[in-house]
Amino acid sequence: MKAVVIHQHGDPTVLHYTDVPEPQIRPHEVLVRVRACALNHLDLWVRRGLPGVPFPMPHILGSDVAGEIAKVGSEVTTVHVGQKVVLAPGVSCGKCPACVSGNDNRCREFTNLGYMIDGGCAEYVRCPEVNCMPYPQNLDWVHAAAVPLVFQTAWHMLVNRAELQPGEDVLVLAAGSGVGSAAIQIAKFFGARVIATAGTDEKLAKAKTLGADEVIHHGIMPIAKEVRRLTNGRGVDVVVEHVGVATWEDSVKSLANSGRLVTCGATTGFDAKLDLRFLFTRQLSIMGSYMGTKNELRTLLKLVAAGRLQPTVDKVFELNDCMAAHNYLEKAKQFGKVVLRVE
Ligand SMILES: [Zn+2]
Repeated sequence: MKAVVIHQHGDPTVLHYTDVPEPQIRPHEVLVRVRACALNHLDLWVRRGLPGVPFPMPHILGSDVAGEIAKVGSEVTTVHVGQKVVLAPGVSCGKCPACVSGNDNRCREFTNLGYMIDGGCAEYVRCPEVNCMPYPQNLDWVHAAAVPLVFQTAWHMLVNRAELQPGEDVLVLAAGSGVGSAAIQIAKFFGARVIATAGTDEKLAKAKTLGADEVIHHGIMPIAKEVRRLTNGRGVDVVVEHVGVATWEDSVKSLANSGRLVTCGATTGFDAKLDLRFLFTRQLSIMGSYMGTKNELRTLLKLVAAGRLQPTVDKVFELNDCMAAHNYLEKAKQFGKVVLRVE
């Protein structure tokens, strides 16, 4: 099969479009013919390499897959050959207390397609049967692939971790990112008031079309100061943070008393500072969040199928143009998802 393979970490030139053997499935696994694979910032981290994470080589990236089932293992009972599916990115042991209680993203063996195991930047990918999710029939392959990782991440942040309530004020950083564009919609779905940030007027206008009530141009206005103005000095109840060092201080300062900051990433760096006096006197909560559960993905896919949540696709590349797609994503000019089409 054709696949985009890396043999070492580095810049986008390490991505090679080449022929590799088709994956061999186990009894509880399926082989999926990939039709589209969305990229995430995670792909950039994996390609560059992370200290202390021994990625297997050669390696195929790609966590967000839409496609159709090509083969099923001998023990597979819930899906059939030819069925259209989107794949849950997270693969876990399925046996530990976290997994059996439905918190599979807290499994100690949790990984993602394209992380410690081969992913979807290929014609075929193998995964456990339980990762097959119902396909939202209203979407084409490209839009279906744009859903899983960022929507489940934003959902887990807002619903599971921050326990967002109707009427609360939410600050969503980087509206143009996949997580940002999903978080705006989910927060609005739960009846919150959304303040979104972005670095261009065009992105701010798009954030408004997704439902943002207020927008902040972070290149012109200091975020925390503008949040105070927009909330009559109170601050927001919840901050959706994933930018890291560049915005961390503003994010903490933007919180109201008893506010919750939930973070799922550190695109601009992880070595952030925290003034503990703010933490205790204002009774803040700082929460980490990682990916989401399969059940959360199942729930939000129903809302996607009903048109209540919509993936935002910025640009589509062909699989053999994966290097160009990585170069494009590195520039952070996109609004929404960058997706590879696999013909
Ligand atoms: Zn487990």
